[in-house]
Amino acid sequence: MTSSNQNTELKTIIIAIDGYSGCGKSSTAKAVAARLSYAYIDTGAMYRAVTLYFYRHKVDYLSKGQVRKALTSILLEFKFDETTKSSHIYLNGENVESLIRQMHISERVSNVSTIAEVRHFLVAQQRLMGTKKGIVMDGRDIGTVVFPDAELKVFMTAQVPTRALRRQKELKSLGQEVELSEIINNLEKRDLIDSTREESPLRKADDAIEIDTTNLEFEEQVTKILELMKEPQSIA
Ligand code: C5P
Repeated sequence: MTSSNQNTELKTIIIAIDGYSGCGKSSTAKAVAARLSYAYIDTGAMYRAVTLYFYRHKVDYLSKGQVRKALTSILLEFKFDETTKSSHIYLNGENVESLIRQMHISERVSNVSTIAEVRHFLVAQQRLMGTKKGIVMDGRDIGTVVFPDAELKVFMTAQVPTRALRRQKELKSLGQEVELSEIINNLEKRDLIDSTREESPLRKADDAIEIDTTNLEFEEQVTKILELMKEPQSIA
């Protein structure tokens, strides 16, 4: 390998993207992963799939026994969908990618995400997915808890009305018409629970680079992260 190759070649790394709901984390992370031929993991989908299971099986969140027993019956997998060219989450063999985006799951997911047993169960799986690096993972605690040593950490923010409009558009594309006020209410409630919970609350890692996406076009968000990869001071 020549020295010029060494300079231009990008190291295979872990990219952790955290932030509030609706800041464009998932779509940006997915596009960054596709450009780099990295794997993409939407950890929010994992918390949502567990919530769907708890909802269907009427698991009492307050009962540690019921929660532990339920977790032993949950198998989560990501499989690539050729039609949409993106990965879908499977719960015990069933594709639940769109079911988990329903409002009644959004209303429950942050409470389920406060349960320590649920977090330990999912964080262990997320760490295994990152053992070979070459992964973009988005969530709330990726840079702080799941991969505190991730080479690139991004923390995405955006103003609430922008986030709500984006979420409304995403839901519309899934065939769900939801009032903006209902979405704002849900985002604010989740922000509060996510950032004040005892177990791994949502917070910016000290070494994360903050990107405010309020006035950014989608392509700009993707380019910004790809640019950060080339800046040695951004990569740990
Ligand atoms: O990313 P998304 O909005 O789909 O995440 C749904 C919920 O899952 C969040 O509001 C949060 O309560 C929970 N979550 C979490 N930790 C993660 C990812 C998501 O607590 N790493």
